[in-house]
Amino acid sequence: MKSVLLSSPGKIQISEAQYPVRKPNEVLLKVRSAGICGSDIGAYKGVNPLVSYPRVIGHEIAGEVLEVPAEETDLLPGDRVIIEPYVYCGECYPCSIGHTNCCENLTVRGVHIEGGMAEVIAHPRRLVHKVPNNIPWNLIPMAEPLVISMHAVQQADTQAGQHVVITGAGQIGLLAAQYALTLDAIPVIVDPVDERLELARKLGVTHTINPTVVDAVAEIKKITHGRMAEVVIEASGAASAIRGAVDYVSYAGHISLVGWPKNDIELPTGLFTKKELTVRGSRNSVGQFPESLRLISEGKVDVASLLTKTVDMDETPAMVSDIAEHPDRYLKVTCLF
Ligand SMILES: [Zn+2]
Ligand SMILES: [Zn+2]
Repeated sequence: MKSVLLSSPGKIQISEAQYPVRKPNEVLLKVRSAGICGSDIGAYKGVNPLVSYPRVIGHEIAGEVLEVPAEETDLLPGDRVIIEPYVYCGECYPCSIGHTNCCENLTVRGVHIEGGMAEVIAHPRRLVHKVPNNIPWNLIPMAEPLVISMHAVQQADTQAGQHVVITGAGQIGLLAAQYALTLDAIPVIVDPVDERLELARKLGVTHTINPTVVDAVAEIKKITHGRMAEVVIEASGAASAIRGAVDYVSYAGHISLVGWPKNDIELPTGLFTKKELTVRGSRNSVGQFPESLRLISEGKVDVASLLTKTVDMDETPAMVSDIAEHPDRYLKVTCLF
């Protein structure tokens, strides 16, 4: 069986892998498509401290069911599914209160444990979701970044009519903006790359700001009629954007931090108190897959416009190194297996 293997940072190839043995609670899948995510690129570059090597990459994985647990009544062989790649323990404190997304013992496929970029994988039944028939294979993996974005928007308790400033117009930011639109909130995207802002406008985002060209604080003040944004979603991980969030947010506002900063940064914590901010981290997702698939299937979120290209499994290693070298050329790449 073939897999996409990182033998060490910078070394990626199609490699022979062991055919998986399905445990009683697992589903066996023939993988049909996969998304290349920022974390796969981080693993390739050797900058993700959670990754150990050698490692099969990939956590945005869709496939066809081959075998199901004996007691299964819903899933059938041949069904199209996507995996939820965050494998939680079910026993720690966060798991005990339903926050399985930040399980203390969390193992994410392609990061802590073998990824899904292989011809066949086994995965816990409780983390496998059926996919509506009208979503083509090469778009199904994008339901995974969408759940990350949905969780970030939900962590900020976003309400209809609120202004949602989103810093970073990568796939997470653009999906968060589209999800905010489905909630009848008003997204405002802040990003220094004009083409990304143009894409945001094509996706229905009416307010976009390039902070290297205009004063973002003044601009947000104008858009919100002086209030500033009730919600800020930080989706870039950039220090300047995280710092900016504290200025962009309104009094009594909510900040949701989904971007991973490279280093710790200094923040004016006095403003947290003065504005009585709610600042929440947002990691992975919990329970959002069915809705994410529904939004894509019903055309409420346009993932196709974010897709730069789709390649075959054999082309995946070269594609990963090209994305690592030229990140600006790609917004999203998926692979057909
Ligand atoms: Zn991902
Ligand atoms: Zn746990």
